[in-house]
Amino acid sequence: MRRFSYLLMGLSVVLAASQPLPGPTSAKAPKVALAIHGGAGTILKKNMTPEQEAQYVAKLNEALEAGHRVLTGGGTSLQAVEAAIKIMEDSPLFNAGKGAVFTHEGKNELDAAVMDGKTLAAGAVAGVTTIKNPISAALAVMQKSPHVMMTGRGAELFAQQQGVEMVDPSYFYDERRFKQLEKAKEREKVEGSENNGQGRLPGDSDPLWLDRKFGTVGCVALDQFGNLAAGTSTGGMTNKKFGRVGDAPIIGAGTYADNATCAVSATGHGEYFIRAVVAHDVAARMAYQKLPLAKAAHAVVMEKLVKMGGEGGIIAIDGKGNIAMPFNSEGMYRACIRPDGTREVKIYKE
Ligand code: ASP
Repeated sequence: MRRFSYLLMGLSVVLAASQPLPGPTSAKAPKVALAIHGGAGTILKKNMTPEQEAQYVAKLNEALEAGHRVLTGGGTSLQAVEAAIKIMEDSPLFNAGKGAVFTHEGKNELDAAVMDGKTLAAGAVAGVTTIKNPISAALAVMQKSPHVMMTGRGAELFAQQQGVEMVDPSYFYDERRFKQLEKAKEREKVEGSENNGQGRLPGDSDPLWLDRKFGTVGCVALDQFGNLAAGTSTGGMTNKKFGRVGDAPIIGAGTYADNATCAVSATGHGEYFIRAVVAHDVAARMAYQKLPLAKAAHAVVMEKLVKMGGEGGIIAIDGKGNIAMPFNSEGMYRACIRPDGTREVKIYKE
């Protein structure tokens, strides 16, 4: 009997020692942070009604909170990125998923990418027309295929096989976006095809027109395991032609993540962002020049891109949870929650 109770005592010591360590709900909150963007461009306070402004702020907050909830609940940065981006894809306010801009042919062709800073795994889809949430398809490419990027019909077939939600292309129709396409086409006739109808005629300040270019969405996150992730999703640019693909799904251009440096998601005139290899350049400057995140991000967005004439901005986060959100356009829908819990939700230039 005595031997038996010793045995029990010993067993309970072993059991106590193998209890899981205090989880994310314990007293010390885990260090997590994330930032989102909803596109950059000519976003001016004078062109926004208070109602529109309130709608954007509410949606940014919703996306931010969805991502942050995943992180504080012990989820991964990849899961947070997907959660935040899906909310913006489902909203017609942004140029991604529902509300995406139209191509020259009157279609919605969507691009998205995601990258895991821990493993450097990445996934992307381009030119898809029937995937409700392209960010989820990008994640499936990364997690369930040996490839990094899939395009068009092939990407759609793969996504369908993986159980990603499919929709009829008409799901993406948005009247405001369609009017922007019509206007871009009229403009093209006046300006010629040289600038793809994206240029500005003197004195043009019609908010509908100004809003036609950008609106891409993105998210970067740091989870409690110290892992970074980045994701970007877009309809590209109004009146795009011939299967044009922007920077968003191109790893290193619009999307990049590496635990050793940072995670970046970009928004802006893709043709410039591709040639400036924006997202990777921020990481490279941190790695090679030993620059802190804010300086590396500033050098790429406010110096290199400005010199090239590339309009737009980025959100970026490093392994300590530092966040940078520089942009060289009039405005950028952006929001973040820092490791200390402080929140920022902004639209215009300071
Ligand atoms: N970067 C996107 C593209 O060029 C557009 C945007 O950010 O709004 O496709």
